Amino acid sequence: MMIKINLEKIKKLVEKYGDSSLIEEFSCIEKSVQKEIPKIVYIQLWMYTGCPTCDYTLSTHYGDGYHAIENEIDRCPRCGQLLEWE
Ligand SMILES: [Zn+2]
Repeated sequence: MMIKINLEKIKKLVEKYGDSSLIEEFSCIEKSVQKEIPKIVYIQLWMYTGCPTCDYTLSTHYGDGYHAIENEIDRCPRCGQLLEWE
């Protein structure tokens, strides 16, 4: 069963009723949850391809202007963002 979380609704409540430490705590939770929602990676031939969240290099540059995707990894090794390849 998939749990649907309305982050925007919770965020509004936290901002309305929470103090600064709760707002900061929620911000960390929000970032973690966002990384579990796959982000689409758009591959452009002859162009650098980076993680849509942190811009970590996902393509390999061969020096002649050609950038290739060696393998379509599921998750960014740097920030943990789930990735979906177009
Ligand atoms: Zn990343």
